[in-house]
Amino acid sequence: MSDDRIPFALPDITDAEIEAVTRAIRSGWVSSGPETVAFEKEFAAHVGGQVEAVAVNSATAGLHLALEACGIGPGDEVIVPTWTFTATAEVVRYMGATPVLIDVDPDTLNIALPSVADVLTSATKAVIPVHLGGLGVNLKTLRAIVGANIRIIEDAAHALPTITAGNQVGDCRYSDAAVFSFYATKTITTGEGGMITTRDPAIAARARVMRLHGIDRQSFDRYQSDKSTWFYDVVAAGFKYNLTDPAAAMGRVQLNRSAAMHARREELAEQYLDALRRLPVRLPAQPPVGDTHAWHLFILRISPEAPVDRDGFIAAMAEKGVGTSVHFIPLHKHTIWRDSLGLEPRQFPNATEQFEHVVSLPMFSSMSDDQAQRVASAAIRILT
Ligand SMILES: *Cc1c(COP(=O)(O)O)cnc(C)c1O
Repeated sequence: MSDDRIPFALPDITDAEIEAVTRAIRSGWVSSGPETVAFEKEFAAHVGGQVEAVAVNSATAGLHLALEACGIGPGDEVIVPTWTFTATAEVVRYMGATPVLIDVDPDTLNIALPSVADVLTSATKAVIPVHLGGLGVNLKTLRAIVGANIRIIEDAAHALPTITAGNQVGDCRYSDAAVFSFYATKTITTGEGGMITTRDPAIAARARVMRLHGIDRQSFDRYQSDKSTWFYDVVAAGFKYNLTDPAAAMGRVQLNRSAAMHARREELAEQYLDALRRLPVRLPAQPPVGDTHAWHLFILRISPEAPVDRDGFIAAMAEKGVGTSVHFIPLHKHTIWRDSLGLEPRQFPNATEQFEHVVSLPMFSSMSDDQAQRVASAAIRILT
């Protein structure tokens, strides 16, 4: 394999991130502290300012805390699209509740909104829409379907930045909370990390307590120098989900750069859309006019009339030095969800059918025009 291989994903890191992390380490405050507080404030302002932001050490932790703060528990049902990463469903199990998997829209691969109405029961307490690849779910429509009493917790792992139904994902205009991921491959990264945003002060307050052992105040306050600060009270058996300051320092720089990084992803998506439009593929769905796509993922579907199938395409791209991936293997095809929920492929006709055809092309903001061109040329050679 040549050493000019194009990876599927790569974090976009500059000297500014390295300097910020170095500064945070040199400060001596290597757990959660002032950088984390500043990152939360800047993140809340970034997504619209009407929310509080709570930093956590992963989106999985954030989804767990959001469900916990909403009081989800045994006997409750939480609606989850089958087309997602397993974290979206596993957090429901953390709470002892039952994930109710449903099919997706065959065009957007996002949760099938009409199917949400079909599975609502008296036990339904929440729904977790996923903005797949950075293409927004229409939350205004979802809110109209579920009504005011069912919680909407957005899995916004792919959605920084996404505008849907005219609103920035994370501003929580129609949802109870949104949870972002800063995992290595996501649109901004802190290595590992995540952020909850919410307009509900009760959710934010509970998440802050539960992310740090159920202690009733933050460690940052505890080390302030007024005399009574040694005292703290543990009010719940909480978790250890706080973000560290070196990670937050990196996140602040990435957030600052996020508009520019998004503009680059949009350019790359345009190049792919233009170069691949005559091939036997289905191109990714586009958002309605006025909304935007984060382009975390660029998901192609290889048509049945193409000279190779999806697996053949992935192998041929690898031979040409281009990394690809598949997002996602639907949850109903994984052993744990299939067996524990008694699921059959025919319950998810769209996801089952589309899964055979999907492949994600390399997409990262540090990708050059030349690299994008080489990805497109390789795809064109394989598919014509
Ligand atoms: C990456 C991802 C997560 C989990 O994010 P972590 O920060 O790694 O916990 C959750 N949901 C989806 C859809 C993801 O892609």
